[in-house]
Amino acid sequence: MPPSPAGSQKAIVAVQVVRRTPILYFQAEEILLMVSVAGPKLVSPCLKALEGLQLSNSEVQATAVFEANIALILRFLIDNDLGGGRWIEFEAGAFLVVSETSRSTTAQIELDVHLGHGTKFRALPMDTDAGSFVPPLRTAALELSVDVESQLVTGAACVLTVEGQAQPVARAVWLRALATQQVTEEAADSAVLFLSEDEEVLLQHLGETLAAMDADIILTYDLSETVRRMLGKRGIAKAGSPLARSLCRRLGAEVKLTPKSNEVSGMTGRLGFDLQKQVEKDHRLVDYSLGALSQHFCRIPLPELSAATRAKVLRSRPRAYAQHLLRQAEASANIFHHLAYLYNFVEMARVTGCPLSYLLERGQAIKVQCQLLREARLRGFVLPQRPGTGEDTTYEGATVLEPACGFYRCPIAVLDFASLYPSIMMAHNLCYSTLLPPGREKKPDCPDFTESPPTAGSEHATCFVKAQVRKGLLPSILEHLLAARKAAKAQLAQCDPGEAGATRRKVLHGRQLALKLSANSVYGFTGATNGPLPCLEVAGAVTAYGREMIQATKAKVEQHFTTGLGYAYNAEVVYGDTDSVMVKFGPEGFALDEAIKVSKEASTVCSSIFPAPVRLEFEKVYQPFLLMAKKRYAGMAFASSSSSPELETKGIETVRRDWCDLVRHGLEETLKRLLVSDGSDGCQKAIAHVRDVCNDLRQNKIDFRSLVISKSLGRNEYTAKAPHAEVAEKLKKRDATTAPRLGDRVSYLVLAGAAKAKVYEKAEDPLYALENDLPIDADYYLENQLKQPLVRVFELVCGDVHKAESLLFGGLTSQKVVVSTSKGGMGKFVKPRPKCLSCSADIDHGAVCTLCKEKLPEIKAQALGRVRALAEELSQLRAACARDCALPSGAFPQLPADEPVSDQGQASERCLNEGCPVIFSRARVAKQLGSAREALQRLDVKEA
Ligand SMILES: [Zn+2]
Ligand SMILES: [Zn+2]
Repeated sequence: MPPSPAGSQKAIVAVQVVRRTPILYFQAEEILLMVSVAGPKLVSPCLKALEGLQLSNSEVQATAVFEANIALILRFLIDNDLGGGRWIEFEAGAFLVVSETSRSTTAQIELDVHLGHGTKFRALPMDTDAGSFVPPLRTAALELSVDVESQLVTGAACVLTVEGQAQPVARAVWLRALATQQVTEEAADSAVLFLSEDEEVLLQHLGETLAAMDADIILTYDLSETVRRMLGKRGIAKAGSPLARSLCRRLGAEVKLTPKSNEVSGMTGRLGFDLQKQVEKDHRLVDYSLGALSQHFCRIPLPELSAATRAKVLRSRPRAYAQHLLRQAEASANIFHHLAYLYNFVEMARVTGCPLSYLLERGQAIKVQCQLLREARLRGFVLPQRPGTGEDTTYEGATVLEPACGFYRCPIAVLDFASLYPSIMMAHNLCYSTLLPPGREKKPDCPDFTESPPTAGSEHATCFVKAQVRKGLLPSILEHLLAARKAAKAQLAQCDPGEAGATRRKVLHGRQLALKLSANSVYGFTGATNGPLPCLEVAGAVTAYGREMIQATKAKVEQHFTTGLGYAYNAEVVYGDTDSVMVKFGPEGFALDEAIKVSKEASTVCSSIFPAPVRLEFEKVYQPFLLMAKKRYAGMAFASSSSSPELETKGIETVRRDWCDLVRHGLEETLKRLLVSDGSDGCQKAIAHVRDVCNDLRQNKIDFRSLVISKSLGRNEYTAKAPHAEVAEKLKKRDATTAPRLGDRVSYLVLAGAAKAKVYEKAEDPLYALENDLPIDADYYLENQLKQPLVRVFELVCGDVHKAESLLFGGLTSQKVVVSTSKGGMGKFVKPRPKCLSCSADIDHGAVCTLCKEKLPEIKAQALGRVRALAEELSQLRAACARDCALPSGAFPQLPADEPVSDQGQASERCLNEGCPVIFSRARVAKQLGSAREALQRLDVKEA
């Protein structure tokens, strides 16, 4: 805040005459008035008063406003050369420690610092040990559980970790239950347990405990949901209350949740981290449930419980429930740690200067805006209050060269421009501050400039002054970012590779990543029409240069690498997109290492035609390569001729929730067979694989797990005609106590049904289908799931769609194999005739037909062997379930003892883990074991 005389009631504290250059368009310095007001709330009334203000001297007029919309915290950080995540050093005597009685926050130390002239503090440089040290920040991983029927919070768990310490420093559980014993503070397994039957008392205690833990980061799987539950229906925690203090360090602040947008506000001094949202932003996965994330990132299994299971476990096994809540909170903490989020965010704050909370709560734009404001202040520029070119128009995007689609068995080289857009902006000095106003380039006194390549639909040229005239702000920022990244990577390479250097490596890795991401987001900032400072001339010029470069690269490659110039073959660019081109340097049989050699030569040859720092680099060679369409391809990628290749796919949809695993795996396995790297033709093998899958599907041989489709049950969906809603309805009729509830994920299979039946009519619970031997609808899986993605691949390999269809599915799609084991539907009422256990011939009684009688001892031995093998397999699957899906009990002596679990020997194989990896195999094997035992009985053989 600006200096204000003590006791002053004045709204306007100071008015200074300053010289600044407006950033938009290349223009001269202007004389501006800098108005300082007494508080942030006075900015808006002050602006109103200035609007249309006529001064007696008619030459002075308020015509434009600059930087009046900058949040106070940013203004403060920028004006004092500070930044998010930084260490600040105060000179002795530059501050006063606020006494206990007059503090406005619950922070450990509160300082009063006099700002203004001669302020005696500074941010420590980031490249020093002291400046890059990561403090022992406290992270409270919080998990809340809610009963969906009553909408009451039934429990919570919190695990407190401190940066730099391997083990959690505190673990606590809250449960809405009645204690059998007096509440003791510490239970045997070092977790504090608090019990109450009253939700409000429970939450009150949760708030007090969290406030006492005083975490810097409140880590949750779902932040807005957790805060909503904590704050109750009103969505507000009154300032100073324990719940408010648990989420916020400022005593006078209310924590609020905006009902519609689900935004949490008022968490001053603490950071709310939404794990699910962040992982969804950063990783492309099929399943984002906490259990799936724990398994995927940390390799630690964590069961997912349905609402009904949660209610049941809480009732019958409270100790296991308390333990489960703790495990969930621990899983969040582990994932957060594993993904190095703390380091990455602290480094991003340091690199961009943004406060940490801005990085989590706001989009990309604030990071660039913050750096731009910083650079502007340094060089005497100001940003306009409203963007000058904010019309709702668009500009031409990147170039995509028309792909020469096909299946290439020869090597295809990938050459790409390193940091293309940042390089273009630096090479051509593209910035707001270097852009000439339209027509200025035609005036005789115009300084030295370059004209950017033409764009479609643009009437006048876009010109930028050269760097010798004025160096742009954006190029300066980019140079700084890229130089800093280079330095960070160099330091990273010198780091101690062992445990001793682990923390430093994380810091440096986070830093180089933050620098790269920041550099790449500068171009987008200029093109975001809803952003704080769009300038489509700049964004349009960047893409125009990019398009020109891709075309120039194509031309250069195809002119230079020709037989005429002494090369063995004429090169051909088969595809190009944004910042890369794909080149065929030779026909089938052209050696991989030759292709790599000539690719490297090509990158040097092409780089020479572009201004620095633009550089074309050799990235990899694909062999073979399947180019399906724009932004859709797959290939075996070689980084060098000696490295082992990797299958890479782009734009081939294998990660979609509404597709079952059969499609994902089927497509991947098929591509692996098709794109073999040993030079042999994988086409036949790939087709054979597809036909095998189809045959297995027809004969009901596919593991149900790969056929399951799942979707979470939303509000009002019980009535909708959607497959998962229909299944939820069926399950409710079968057993209301275990049926899926709101928010639960419902899995289903599509079963064989009447010819014209709709998909939702044929949807069924997978376990029910398994237990009742109901056959799947192979046609549905073939036609609606497998066919389209596979045909798209093979139409290129075979030449056309029809040929591909007949090769893959010919002779399969027309014939209908009806699975005869069905006991569902009509089958239930027909008593089947007994069949010979060996040759399946109809018989009247007994176990085998007369012909097979002489083989009886052999048949008996086989049947016994089968039973034993299946029993062994089942016990192994059950053991796997017991290991990964069980809910172990905590000690928690205050709670009533858990009821014993009787899982073994049940008629129905069920698992309480919704994400159980083996449940379908388990149910299938149990089913097979049942039939095998029946056969054994008919043969009159004892199992043991
Ligand atoms: Zn027989
Ligand atoms: Zn299981």
